[in-house]
Amino acid sequence: MKKKLSKEKLEYFKKKLEARKKELEKALSYVAQKNPANPEDWETVVPDMNAMLSDKNEVADFFEEMENRAAIEDKLEEKLTLVKEAMERIKKGTYGICEEGGELIDERRLEVYPCAKNCIAHAKNYK
Ligand SMILES: [Zn+2]
Repeated sequence: MKKKLSKEKLEYFKKKLEARKKELEKALSYVAQKNPANPEDWETVVPDMNAMLSDKNEVADFFEEMENRAAIEDKLEEKLTLVKEAMERIKKGTYGICEEGGELIDERRLEVYPCAKNCIAHAKNYK
């Protein structure tokens, strides 16, 4: 049983991860533009919004929209971290190897989920 991905495969997944990283950073910059990085900025905006929006539904929509953006930002950041970690593993030469059992992760799994740290059997122990 082979213990490492071929150079060609590693290069292939590296490119895949780089493309994914660019996508995520682009999406994140879009959300962050409309949702300032400093959360304190929002606090000063909220009381004004109550005065500005006449309809209670508009206020509710406003809060819902903010919550959605925060959730999207969190998700994107989380994914970006996973991509960066996977790229680190490529550098270290541990990419594609199950962190739990040390066996090679199925390439079909990496194809679908290039950030995978574990093989399918071991991934079941994680969320
Ligand atoms: Zn495993």
